[in-house]
Amino acid sequence: MKVLNFINGEWKESSSKQFAPVINPATGDAIGEVTVSIEADVGAAVKAAKAAQKKWALVPAPKRAEVLYKVGYLLKERKEQLARMLTMEMGKVIEEARGEVQEGIDMAFYMAGEGRRLFGDTTPSELKDKFAMSVRAPVGVVGIITPWNFPIAIATWKSFPAIVAGNAVVWKPALETPFMAQELAKIFEEAGLPKGVFNVVNGDGPTTGNALVEHPDVRVISFTGSNEVGRKIAEKCGRSLKKVSLEMGGKNAVIVMDDADLSLAVEGILWSAFGTSGQRCTACSRIIAHENIKKELENRLLEAMRTLTIGNGLDENVKVGPVINEKALQKIDRYVQIGKEEGAKLLTGGYILQEGEYNKGYYYAPTLFTDVMPNMRIAREEIFGPVASIIPVKSLEEAIEVNNSVDYGLSSSIFTRDVNKVFTAMRDLDTGIVYVNAGTTGAEIHLPFGGTKGTGNGHRDSGVAALDVFTEWKSIYIDFSGKLQRAQIDIDE
Ligand code: NAD
Repeated sequence: MKVLNFINGEWKESSSKQFAPVINPATGDAIGEVTVSIEADVGAAVKAAKAAQKKWALVPAPKRAEVLYKVGYLLKERKEQLARMLTMEMGKVIEEARGEVQEGIDMAFYMAGEGRRLFGDTTPSELKDKFAMSVRAPVGVVGIITPWNFPIAIATWKSFPAIVAGNAVVWKPALETPFMAQELAKIFEEAGLPKGVFNVVNGDGPTTGNALVEHPDVRVISFTGSNEVGRKIAEKCGRSLKKVSLEMGGKNAVIVMDDADLSLAVEGILWSAFGTSGQRCTACSRIIAHENIKKELENRLLEAMRTLTIGNGLDENVKVGPVINEKALQKIDRYVQIGKEEGAKLLTGGYILQEGEYNKGYYYAPTLFTDVMPNMRIAREEIFGPVASIIPVKSLEEAIEVNNSVDYGLSSSIFTRDVNKVFTAMRDLDTGIVYVNAGTTGAEIHLPFGGTKGTGNGHRDSGVAALDVFTEWKSIYIDFSGKLQRAQIDIDE
C-alpha cells in the first residue's frame, strides 16, 4: 500500500518525492510505503484548513455532529478490517487492536453528542437589565501530532472534539503507522466532511512535525508522545504564545497491599504490564508490593507469565506481540542491562527473542525484576517495553510515597480490600488516573485522560475536558437598560 497525504480533500504525494517504508513489526517485512512531507506540504495543508475552517465554524454544531455520527457508523462497519491493518502496521494483538478501533467508535458517538451540548454558562449580571453568558468558540486551525502506539484512537480523541467544536485539523501521524491515518481520512471523506476540514500530512518529527508547530496559522498544537519531544514543542509554542496540550510518558505503578486478592492483582498486573508489549503510556512498569506478600506475588506472577504466548498479533491465541522496531528492542535491552548493573534481581526474561519465528520480527521476552529500589533508573525512567519491576514496601504510606516519587504522573492502581486504604490512596496518589482493584490501563473515553507532573501540562484528552483544548471561552454581556452601566462602579443604584 502506498500512503499519500490528504490535503484539501485530495490525495497528494509530498513535494519531496521521498517515501519511507512501512514495516510489519511482527515479521520485519515491508508492507507499504508512505510519502515523507516537507514544510511546503504542511503549508499547503494549513492553508486549506484555514480557508475551510471559516465556513465550517458557521455550520450549526448539531449539523457538524451529523458528520461524526456517520464517521462512527463507518468505523463500526470497518472495525475488523481496520483492526487487522492496525495489527500489521503497529504489532499489537488483534484483540487489543479491535479495542482500539472501538475507542474511536465510542469517541465518535460521544463527541457527536457534544454537537447538541457544547455548553457554556448563563449567569446573572451584577447590574440591572443586563444579561451575561459564556460560549465556546473554535480556536481555528488545530495541529495534531501523534505517536505510533495508538495509531487511530489518539487521533480520534483529538480530532473529533476539535471538529465538532468548529475547528479544522492538520494531523501529522507517526511515520511508523500511516495506514490508520489514511483510513480515517477516507472515512471523513465518505462521511461528507467538507474539503480542508481534516488534513493528513505524513512525515517525520523534526521536519514535518516541526513545520506544523512553527506555522503561524496553527493556533493550537495537541501532542501525544515522549517527554523529550513534548518539551521541545512546548518551548517553541511558548515563544509564539501558541496554545499547546501535551500528553506524554508514564512510569505507572500497581500497589499490592497484604490484604489484596492476589489472583486478581496478578491478572491486573499481567494485563497492564505486558499488554501491548508494555508499549502503553499507562503500562504498569512498577509493582509496589507489601513485603508480607512479595514472595507469594513473585511466585504467582512467574507462574502466570509462563502462560503468555508471544508472537504475531494476528494469531488470536497470541497474548504478547512484537515491539515496534529494532531501536525499541535495543532500548529495552539496554534498560535490562542497567537494571542488572544497578543490583536488581532478574526473575525471568531479560533477552531479545531470536529463534525460529522470532528471527525476523522484533520480540522481547516478558521480563520481571524484583528487589528493585525506588531510586534505580529502571524504577524511574520509561522503558516502553514488556519489563516490570517489583519494589518492596512496608506500609501504605511508603507505597504512596514510592508511587509519587517519580517525575511522571499518569496512572496508578491499588489492590486492597480495605476501604480506608482505598480512600487514602484515592486522595494521596498524585496521578491523573487512579484505579482501585484493576490494573493501570483501561481508560474510558468519556472521562478526562492525562497526567500530572512530567506527563502533561495540565490539559486532558477525552471527556468534555478535551473541548477545553480546542475552544476559547468567549464571555458576552448584553445590556438592555438603554443607558451606560459601569460594572464594579455603578453598583449602588
Ligand atoms: P515521540 O515523541 O518520538 O513521537 C511522537 C510524535 O512526535 C511522532 O509523530 C513524531 O514524528 C513527532 N515528533 C518527533 N519529533 C518532533 C519534533 N521535533 N517536532 C514535532 N514533532 C515531532 O513518541 P513515540 O515514540 O511515537 O511514542 C511513544 C511515547 O508516547 C511514549 O513516551 C509514550 O508514553 C507516549 N504516549 C503518551 C500517551 C499519553 O496520552 N500520555 C499516549 C500514548 C503514548
